[in-house]
This record gives sequence, C-alpha cells and structure tokens, in this order.
Amino acid sequence: MRPQEIIAKKRDGETLSPAEIHSFIEGVTDAAWADYQISALLMAMFMGGLSLEEQNFLTEAMLASGDKLDFSDVDAPLADKHSTGGVGDKTSLIIAPLAAACGVFVPMISGRGLGHTGGTLDKLEAIRGYNVNLSTEEFKRIVKKCGFAMTGQTAEIAPADRKIYSLRDATATVESIPLIVASIMSKKLAEGLDALVLDVKTGSGAFMQDFEKSKQLAEALCKTGNACGVKTEAVISDMNQPLGKYVGNALEVFECVKILRGEADAQMLSTLELSIELTARMLVLTGIAETVENAKLKIKSVLDSGEALEKFRQNIELQNGDSKICDNPEILFDKDLVKVEVKAEKSGFISVIDAGAVGESVSKIGGGRIKVGDKIDYAVGCECVKKLGDEVQAGETLGVIFCRNETQANLIYEKSANAYKIVDEKPLENFDLIKAVI
Ligand code: URA
Repeated sequence: MRPQEIIAKKRDGETLSPAEIHSFIEGVTDAAWADYQISALLMAMFMGGLSLEEQNFLTEAMLASGDKLDFSDVDAPLADKHSTGGVGDKTSLIIAPLAAACGVFVPMISGRGLGHTGGTLDKLEAIRGYNVNLSTEEFKRIVKKCGFAMTGQTAEIAPADRKIYSLRDATATVESIPLIVASIMSKKLAEGLDALVLDVKTGSGAFMQDFEKSKQLAEALCKTGNACGVKTEAVISDMNQPLGKYVGNALEVFECVKILRGEADAQMLSTLELSIELTARMLVLTGIAETVENAKLKIKSVLDSGEALEKFRQNIELQNGDSKICDNPEILFDKDLVKVEVKAEKSGFISVIDAGAVGESVSKIGGGRIKVGDKIDYAVGCECVKKLGDEVQAGETLGVIFCRNETQANLIYEKSANAYKIVDEKPLENFDLIKAVI
C-alpha cells in the first residue's frame, strides 16, 4: 500500500490494519517513506487517536524494527523499571542492585537528561570511569555475572522510534498517549523482560503534570505491556517536589550510596520509600515474592545485610567505575564548589515547591542539558533542605545551591527561591508520594 493511501485512511478516521502499520514502520526504517509523509501520518494519529489494537501493533512493529535481547540462557526472572522522568529521580541506581540481590535480573537500558529532568546515564557517568556504552555482548555478560547492568540505547534497539521521535518533536505530536506508549514500550520490550514496573510521575516536575492524564498514560502503558506478553504494572508517584534530598548528578549518586549503606537521613526517605515500592512490585510480578508486603521484607533484609550495596559495588567494578564511592561516598562531593543557601523570606509552611523550576535551575548552571548534546558539569546541583508541608522561620535555609562560583548562584538564586511558596496556615493537601497503583 502506498504511503498516501495509509495517511488518507487515518486522516478519514479509519482504523489501520496490522499490515498497514507494519508497512508504515518498514517505510520509516528503510527510508521508503519521506519525512513529510511520516509527519503527516503522525499528525493524523495525533488528531484521530489510535485504538488499543493499533497502539499494540504500532508498538510491536517499532520493536521489530530493531533487535531484541535474548536472555533465554539465563535461569532467573528478568524485570526492569521505567520512569517517565522527574527531578531528583535517582531510584534506578537503588532498584537495580536491590532487585538483583533478591534474585531478579535487571537489564536496564536508560537515557540521558534533557531540560529540567535528569537521566540515569548522566548520574552513572558522575562515577569516575563508569562505562555506559556497553556492547550488547558486554551488557549481557554483566547482567549474567552480577544480576544487573546499566547502559545506553544502541542504534540497534527500536531504530524506528529514533526517527519517529525526532519528527514528533519537530511536528508538535509528542503529547499523544498512543505515540508515547509505542515509543516507551518498543524500547522496553526490546530488553526481553518477563516483567516491567512503570513509575509514572505526576505534578509540577513531571512530563504529565495532571493526575488524570498521568493515570491515562499509566493505564495505556500497562495495557500494551500486558498485551505484548510482559507483566506490567504502574505506580503513579508524586513529582510536585524533587524526589529526596539532592538534585544534580554526583550529589544524587551520593544519596543512592548513602541509602544502600543504610545511612539514609530524613530528606532521603522519599527516595528510599519509592525505590522499595517499585522493587517490591518487580519481585511480585516475577513471582520472587507472593505479596508486596513479603517483597518489602525481603528488600529490607538485603539492604540491612549489605548485599544490595555489594551488588552495586560489583556492578561498578564490572562497568569500570570507581567502586571506592561505596566505602567513602563523600569523594563524590567536589570540594571546590561554592555553597549558597536559599533563605525563606517569611515564616510559615511550605505549600508549593516547583520541581520543574528546581530542575531548570540546576540545568542552567550546567547540571543538566538545556538542549541535546550540551556538556554536563556532574558536580553541581542543589540540596532540598525543606520539603512540602514543613514549617519554616524567616531566614531559615530552604535549599543549598552547589555551584562553581557566585555568578552561577546569582543566575539561579531568584528562580530557586521563587520555587518555594510559603503560606501562613499548615496546608491540608495530601503530599503522599504514591498516588495510585495501576
Ligand atoms: N519518552 C519516550 O521514550 N518517548 C516518548 O514519546 C515520551 C517519553
């Protein structure tokens, strides 16, 4: 079928057949479809939506455009976690060793940060020497050896998504739930998983800020994951404030190591709570634990015994990183940084922390990327001293900026201070971290 016939069919509100969807993705992969034809179909899909069957076929076709990892020789269940992205969201570095210590293998293929959100690969690269560019063979070898490996996406995984995503970005068609589902799931299904847990963020620092939209996305992702033979569950978690204590790559790795060492302080507890929740669901979906409660007990035991920390150490060594951070996490702090405290202008209670603004501020001083390809300063970032609902006195420290010089601090001080709203009465809102499980 010619591209214009498939485009016309979708434009006129008809449902595309599996053969038509495969023909589209084949045309994307072998460049038989021109960019303007791909873009026209994406816009027709954006406007008209896709049925669940179309969404599933599109996902499968995009998956089939590339390689799928084969772990058939591994005698352990395989699971992963995927987050829709947030600020201070560092749970992957805790979940992978926790799950591996409990007997689940985790082949984690991750991405880089952009805009206000961070990326797992950037955090890992804050560990001196850590290699996130593993070949497929190295990746599989390390998963088999220590139970998990973390790497970047290779050109062989869902290549159709790469092309389609860049055209979606250029044609204002990113915010379409079926297109998001096909994009995320085609890459995750390529990991050859038995189970997948999705962390769909909601709130000011999330890709989907509105709860109802986040729920729709979570439901759509689960439907397609399960239809494609991977047991899939989603947790909708709060992103109305940065997760945990630190934002910024090396600082976030520090927080993860402290948690794995059993040394989490009060501000790190939300990171620990979410990591345990997501890992527990991976253990239940893979049959390692019967209930979430049992799974949590198992996770606590591998944390307390130090087994999870040892898994992390083993992984760092296998990926050529400096595992001394496991014994002395303080070496992750760059002593040359200037620390500037952001002070409360009045007394009261914190009712809003604009997580997006905090993430943008950190990116602005080099801790993240404003545009694809920007170089990162792994050391800079901020500490979130006060959290939602906390009482503060005028002049008290809300957060600390870790920057290179006073000029950088001045650049983001106002935006950082304005991210906090202080009200007279204690807010009655629910600041729960886990909003729903789908
Ligand atoms: N992340 C992806 O990988 N794809 C999307 O479409 C949106 C977020």
